Amino acid sequence: MTVKIIVAGPRGKMGTSAVNMVLNNDKFELVACLDQKNEGKTLNQILPQFIETIPIYTNMEKLFNDIEADVFIDLTIPEVGYKHTLAALENGLRPVVGTSGFSEEQIKNLKKIAKEKELGAIIAPNFAVGAVLMMEFSKQAAKYFPDVEIIEKHHDNKVDAPSGTAVKTLELINSVRTKKSQGHPDEFEIIEGARGAESNGVHIHSVRLPGLVAHQEVIFGGKSQLLTIKHDSFDRESFMDGIELSINAVLDLKELVYGLEHIL
Ligand code: NAP
Repeated sequence: MTVKIIVAGPRGKMGTSAVNMVLNNDKFELVACLDQKNEGKTLNQILPQFIETIPIYTNMEKLFNDIEADVFIDLTIPEVGYKHTLAALENGLRPVVGTSGFSEEQIKNLKKIAKEKELGAIIAPNFAVGAVLMMEFSKQAAKYFPDVEIIEKHHDNKVDAPSGTAVKTLELINSVRTKKSQGHPDEFEIIEGARGAESNGVHIHSVRLPGLVAHQEVIFGGKSQLLTIKHDSFDRESFMDGIELSINAVLDLKELVYGLEHIL
């Protein structure tokens, strides 16, 4: 069976890589793209590196009326990505979502709808397999090292901070970590924000610079020792294996899963 796929955000860096991955997989068929401009154009007209004449839609309702598909990939921005994912589920498509920045409430709502409709869906803050392992290893380490800080580094076009990966790492760490506040009890900031964001006593620092792609270090401090768990994505290609795995997995799932680790 060929999996019919729609990609939202095809001109973005992740979206273009996803379009390329889908077009190069014999078992997948790209049936349309959802863009915020270029209504009525075709893929080859908006991205000349491709020869395919796949239709581009800007109107979501029209897209779902015209096009039959199995899987909806969203690689856009949080505000529209949530609306897209909701509409995809309501139209019987299985979402694979890389867009970061959804709130807990939004994820909860999407989970509820996917369950009601018995539709598979995956939202993954990070589709790179190495990053998922970095999160899992951090969870293991947090049992023994409750003093931990996260430094995440991304390109300067990223709009949300901290990254979805950092938030997910924090959730995993807090699920096993003995709660404690870190640093000196009397510490104070000379410049506001110097100690980064803080959640349950864990500090998170977000670096945004041109040249970076997606990088994270989780640093654990103990008596006379330091453990650093680090992952680097040097190119958007690093996320494509995880998206490919997720497309196959959502076809068998009957609910929404949050995090690639649940299907590895
Ligand atoms: P990007 O290059 O800025 O691409 C975002 C794309 O979304 C742009 O092409 C933008 O169009 C498009 N867009 C904005 N509003 C839209 C709308 N209403 N309808 C359709 N498309 C719309 O960013 P990126 O690096 O590709 O990242 C995309 C998303 O994936 C971000 O949320 C990022 O955090 C996330 N991400 C996830 C992973 C993961 O593994 N889960 C990895 C990397 C990135 P314009 O060009 O017209 O603005």
